[in-house]
Amino acid sequence: MRPLVADIDLDALRHNYQLACRCAPQSHSVAVIKADAYGHGALACAQALQNQAPAFAVASIEEALTLRQGGITQPIVLLEGIFSADELPLVERHGFWIAVHSQWQVDVLLAATPLKPIPVWLKVDSGMHRLGFAPNETAAIWRQLSAAPSVARLHLMSHFATADARDSDYFHQQMATLQALASELKAPLCLANSPATLAWPIAHGDWNRPGVMLYGSDPLEVPNAITQQLRPVMTLRSEIIALRDLAAGEPVGYSGRWRAPKRSRIAVVACGYGDGYDRHAVDGTPVLVNGQRCAIAGKVSMDMLTVDVTDVSDAAIGSDVVLWGTARNGEVLPIDEVARYCDTISYTLLTGVLPRAPRRYH
Ligand code: PLP
Repeated sequence: MRPLVADIDLDALRHNYQLACRCAPQSHSVAVIKADAYGHGALACAQALQNQAPAFAVASIEEALTLRQGGITQPIVLLEGIFSADELPLVERHGFWIAVHSQWQVDVLLAATPLKPIPVWLKVDSGMHRLGFAPNETAAIWRQLSAAPSVARLHLMSHFATADARDSDYFHQQMATLQALASELKAPLCLANSPATLAWPIAHGDWNRPGVMLYGSDPLEVPNAITQQLRPVMTLRSEIIALRDLAAGEPVGYSGRWRAPKRSRIAVVACGYGDGYDRHAVDGTPVLVNGQRCAIAGKVSMDMLTVDVTDVSDAAIGSDVVLWGTARNGEVLPIDEVARYCDTISYTLLTGVLPRAPRRYH
């Protein structure tokens, strides 16, 4: 078998979830497991958190149904609500909760006669300018929905554009808008994503919505005492499948981007962009070979990448290679560090890992 695998450490997931709860002891934390739990496998992650998380959040009814059909009994929130009126009977039947961000969704709800009222998170656009009602239209819609027999447990929800930045005036502007609305409407709030959970207690509400931190990625510009305790959940792991000794000046890979600065040893690793590893990884992007830090040398190809192992005395065919995550000797290569070398973010790396890297749960 090709040696590429995504090892998923479910204890680390539970540990990170507990950290999110510890940051905000007065809030309930809905575990955001959309996009197949950021590539980790939504059902397995929901099952692992079943005794801890009071609710889960996903992006679509399909994702919610996968969880229900897999036996998850907790409330499941559809963060973008319904995409068409036909979804409402399924929402009702399965007890899903829905975000409501647009007038047509309000109209569908007001016209509906469900047997049991549907819990609703009314989304305000407090500054992201993506989904949600403008603050000055929100009060009227809130009042309409709170009077509707089809609606239960109305909450005010919003999403922050800059909660990850340390000094963000824009975050405070969003927060001021939300606080004004919440006090006018006496509305329970659901605001905090991972960075707001970690760094902005002022944003902690009745519910928080941590996502990426559950998977061990630090979303803050500057790490804090809690983010330093996050543990990687996914370890993307492969092996050395070939070794090459090169003379100084010899090139490696497509377009010969990397040239050996001296006599060098190159390891070929079974992982490439066809597995979801980012092709934009530059020379110098770290990997762990037998738990030791090494650097990518040469362009990532579809099924392989190449690593300079000149200084790794025990590098051999079959040696363990960690592309991100935790090596067998406990050495950690944070995904956020790899993401910086690829000029991207951990979210894209995690959600980009393809089924070619089978998930193996521990
Ligand atoms: N809430 C909403 C509406 C989201 O779209 C997301 C993620 O994109 C989250 C919460 C979780 O955000 P994060 O992964 O940054 O914690």
